Amino acid sequence: MSPKREPARERQLVQQPVSNSCSDSGSPGPAPEGMVVKAYGGYFYVRAGDRVVECTVRGRLKKEKKEILVGDRVRFSEVDSLRGVIEEVLPRKTRLVRPPVANVDQAVIVSAVSNPDPDFKLIDRLLAIAESESLEILICFNKVDLVTSYRADKISRPYRAAGYRVLKTSAKAGAGIRRLSRALAGRVSVFAGASGVGKSALLNAVQPGFRLKTGETSRKLERGRHTTRHVELLQLDSGGLVADTPGFSRVSLGGIAPEELGLFFPEIRRFVGQCRFTGCMHDREPQCAVKEAVARGEIHETRYNHYLEFLYEVTHLARLQREGRSIDKDSTFDSFQ
Ligand code: GDP
Ligand code: ZN
Repeated sequence: MSPKREPARERQLVQQPVSNSCSDSGSPGPAPEGMVVKAYGGYFYVRAGDRVVECTVRGRLKKEKKEILVGDRVRFSEVDSLRGVIEEVLPRKTRLVRPPVANVDQAVIVSAVSNPDPDFKLIDRLLAIAESESLEILICFNKVDLVTSYRADKISRPYRAAGYRVLKTSAKAGAGIRRLSRALAGRVSVFAGASGVGKSALLNAVQPGFRLKTGETSRKLERGRHTTRHVELLQLDSGGLVADTPGFSRVSLGGIAPEELGLFFPEIRRFVGQCRFTGCMHDREPQCAVKEAVARGEIHETRYNHYLEFLYEVTHLARLQREGRSIDKDSTFDSFQ
């Protein structure tokens, strides 16, 4: 059973207080800064420039039970060029639950255009979750070698219209890979999407040898007790970092409040404040600007229908929570890896 999820608002802004630099660090001058890219066997591996420094944690931080996650920016004192001690954890921008990574900048949501056919409801669900985590979003429609460009355009159009960055790629034919590579440069990304859509193949096309833990491996890892610690950020030659475990692998909308769901659909967000009733949920209310936009074809009907389905789902989850019944948020959606 996973821990209860914090409300989305708080989740977005989990900030840690900055602790004072430790006076007993023993190293002169300012402590170097780096990012934790791996945690293993009680050590934290911190990337600082071209080096990866194997770090232990200053006793004071341990005593405070300070959580240190992959993705955290830290200051460390150097024992020698390859070993150090973490002195301070810098404030976090974001904290993802699955995989447990801090400071993720971007979600890359991957769907195939065929084999398997796109699962639009899953895509919309992943998008809403990524939005609620305040991540930048890139959508990749992969396997375009299997369909006509007309079909690929038809699939991607609603997402472009909603305002998303969309790439049409083929890991097999090499299409769109340079663009994907550019989009990954200089930031921390997590890939998400159903199994078999080509996440691993895409990363391998960007950088031969890159291995995403997918399918059975990550399933087993996730169910292991301490294994979630083993997520690792892998460095691309472009300077970007990518989590080696796909994100949001079991995705419930639990934690999203019904009244904020519309904010996580950019094309609905645009109409905030334009409906007749304040607090309009864009469901049965009259003179709703969102429904009018759907009728005019400005909001794609399938996207709107998914919004409604998710609205009922989060309303139900919120009611269960109010009644003090525990939500096994994993049980609501566990049909893909
Ligand atoms: P993942 O589960 O999302 O990581 O998917 P994989 O990368 O393991 O790919 C699943 C299957 O789709 C593999 O057999 C790949 O060879 C195939 N595949 C991946 N990308 C493409 C593509 O662009 N075109 C075609 N035709 N097949 C692809
Ligand atoms: Zn409305």
